[in-house]
Amino acid sequence: MRRVSLQQLNWEQYQADFNALAAIGQNAEGGMDRLGYGEADQAAHKLLADMAVEAGFEVKWDGAGNLWITRRGEEDGNPDFPPILLGSHMDTVPNGGKYDGLLGVMTAFHAMRLLDRVPQRRTVTLIVFRCEESSRFNCATIGSKLLAEQLTGEMLKRYVDKDGISAYDAIRELGGSPDNLYLERQYIKDSFGFIEMHIEQGPVLNDRRTDIGIVSHIAAPHRFRITVEGAAAHSGACPMDARQDALTGAAEIILAVERLGRQYAEKRIVATVGKCDVVNGAMNIVPGKVELYVDIRGIDREVISEVVTKLHQEMSAIASSRNLRIDPAILSQETPVKLDDDMAEFLVEQCLKNMLTFLHMTSGAGHDTMYMAKLTRSALFFVPCEKGISHNKEEAVADDAVQNGLRLMFSTLVRICTLDPQEEREKAEMDRMLLEEAYQ
Ligand SMILES: [Zn+2]
Repeated sequence: MRRVSLQQLNWEQYQADFNALAAIGQNAEGGMDRLGYGEADQAAHKLLADMAVEAGFEVKWDGAGNLWITRRGEEDGNPDFPPILLGSHMDTVPNGGKYDGLLGVMTAFHAMRLLDRVPQRRTVTLIVFRCEESSRFNCATIGSKLLAEQLTGEMLKRYVDKDGISAYDAIRELGGSPDNLYLERQYIKDSFGFIEMHIEQGPVLNDRRTDIGIVSHIAAPHRFRITVEGAAAHSGACPMDARQDALTGAAEIILAVERLGRQYAEKRIVATVGKCDVVNGAMNIVPGKVELYVDIRGIDREVISEVVTKLHQEMSAIASSRNLRIDPAILSQETPVKLDDDMAEFLVEQCLKNMLTFLHMTSGAGHDTMYMAKLTRSALFFVPCEKGISHNKEEAVADDAVQNGLRLMFSTLVRICTLDPQEEREKAEMDRMLLEEAYQ
């Protein structure tokens, strides 16, 4: 196969579709306000569904409100040709960027449209996941978590937005039924595999001028709320040597978190204190109580727990030297996800064919792929975003990068859709025999 040309990509149609969707929920400053399950999110889902019907695809919404777009292949229903799944999301953070989520959805959708030009044996299904961002309900990746049984309808009642609407009610309002996903779950489990494209949301590809990032692991966050308690006192009357200042103790913890993150950077740890509240803080009070929110991420469970243990040791030293009480409470403890090597291999092969530069990398941010990986062989790849800026209206992706992503998605899809299972089995058998001979 030769490199896919720009003409083949039908670039004008792609841009028109992307811009039509990106206009929905765009605010006056050009930022995106398309919160999960909200009005604009729903309008975007409807427009994409219309586009899909027009393209001749089948469309349905599942019990979680995820949109399913299917293009049937010649061997649809033949267990030797299970369907290949693609997916990403269309909701955004408040005042977010145009490309986070939508770019992956559009790329998958257009790769499916371009299949007009090639024989398609396998069925392709695009899943547009709902509420990937945690901004509205303080709960991320709701659509994919429900599919993977990592959430139930009952649990969704506890996640409430600022207007008091629960995630459960938001889904019911749209006609969904979050516990009724059995058939969809089975469809994913029986599939050939899943592929997501996303913008990197970090600076690595941009800095290294690399076209594609092929993700091997998705890091999982460990999150804590740390309560530091001392004694509130009069800032004028309380002498320095009599103080139990909770904020200066918290400051030491913040620096310890940063130090540990730097110490373990080579082992892919990042550690952040992103929020610090001084309870009843005022300029004339020695702080008596502080709450810190800590987010520690890595790709190896053992390394994460080593860092957490060290943080605990540092905190008890700080507590005794400053006469404070320090209480960490776990908010979440997720497991890092290793993605599928064989699926990644398809991406590598097609990068080489299309002369795209690539590197293997890990993802610090969470994605819907984490939950698809619980159900089927899954792959995730990134395209660079300018300066690594994301979750911000300044988010930008160069046309070249968009085209590279589409090129890779399309040619990978063509490869997988035309795979002959019999040939693949024979090839695997041949590889096995050659390997055996080599070791005899
Ligand atoms: Zn995203």
